[in-house]
Amino acid sequence: MSECDAIYPGSIIGVMGSGQLGRMLAIAAKRLGYRVHTYSAESDTPTGQVADFEVLGSYDDEQAVRTFARGLDVLTFEFENIPALTVEWASEECPVRPSGNALHICQHRLREKIFLRDAGLPVAAFQSVSDEAGLRCAVRDLGVPSVLKTAAFGYDGKGQRKIGPGADLAAVWREFNQLAVLEAWVPFERELSVIIARGMDGSTEVFPVCENVHSNHILDVTLVPARVPDVVVRDARCIAETVVRALDFVGVLAVELFQLADGSLLVNELAPRTHNSGHFSFDACVTSQFEQQLRAVCGLPLGSTRLLRPVAMANLLGDVWEGGEPDWISALSLPEVKLHLYGKVQPRAARKMGHLVAFGDTVEAAADLVREARSTLVRAGSPASATFPESGL
Ligand code: AMP
Repeated sequence: MSECDAIYPGSIIGVMGSGQLGRMLAIAAKRLGYRVHTYSAESDTPTGQVADFEVLGSYDDEQAVRTFARGLDVLTFEFENIPALTVEWASEECPVRPSGNALHICQHRLREKIFLRDAGLPVAAFQSVSDEAGLRCAVRDLGVPSVLKTAAFGYDGKGQRKIGPGADLAAVWREFNQLAVLEAWVPFERELSVIIARGMDGSTEVFPVCENVHSNHILDVTLVPARVPDVVVRDARCIAETVVRALDFVGVLAVELFQLADGSLLVNELAPRTHNSGHFSFDACVTSQFEQQLRAVCGLPLGSTRLLRPVAMANLLGDVWEGGEPDWISALSLPEVKLHLYGKVQPRAARKMGHLVAFGDTVEAAADLVREARSTLVRAGSPASATFPESGL
């Protein structure tokens, strides 16, 4: 991309999807002097509260999608489950980055796994399952435990079922009854993620590798840098580079990884967008994943991803509100703690409402501090105070 093709500050960035990832992209874009329009099914969304303009519409309304896209200098996404036809309509009206093809692959577990395998990347053994007989066959081949996942619309453990010995496969299939993937169980030692940005000229920048601790299949705490040997960091970066090259990707992409006991890595899944595990970068890197997404899709030079200090991020789910309004004063009284809230009005259990970031001289100290900060938010005696994992380290 030549300098004259770059999309400069003052231009209009469109965002499909209107959650917290779009909100943080909008904050980064506004800092750089861009205007932000978001396309959303609802009003007063996390992204819409920050954007200059929130357009209400559905993804199957061709006229509304085209009108929205026509008013933009570039369209990007904070959410991958956008129908292919919607992306096609938009692509006829304005530049769309990343491409519809990248979204199409990453929004479907089966297509994604086949893409990864064909790119020579390591994945857990898997089989496609489209009926009860196929499920029986796949369970016989892959053994138990194994994990059945819907091919489409799965995230944070939704649309997943662990299959154990003696599972009632007929009942499992009645519950699923849609195209799915059976995956061999991975006895991982750690979950990691690596976030990469690729610009229009093919240049890449990789963020420090994240170590992720999940609770109930939802990301709970991220530690950066991950406590893994250099060779694991090199392998993770190499996998991320291979993925974005093979997809001819422009934007930010996250690769979720399982690290096995021998240090080898398997790719769990891809997200063709910014990622929850990369939220630390807003406060802890020279360039955040959100600014990097903006730079990539606007054809600007990518920024440095250098980590300024060891850091940990803890998600704040709706559970934190169970005892009433969280004790913001206590958490914010802790030095080196930053609070991010997404402007969501209804704090439902398991709903991502915000996150905390804490710094430390070591990543362990940062993780202790972020957990302490989160526990001070929860009013004593509330049910949520009993449900926090004491330590996932
Ligand atoms: P996913 O929605 O695929 O990211 O899965 C959510 C979480 O479930 C992962 O972060 C893992 O903790 C767990 N998980 C998913 N697939 C497997 C697997 N094949 N073996 C073991 N744990 C898994």
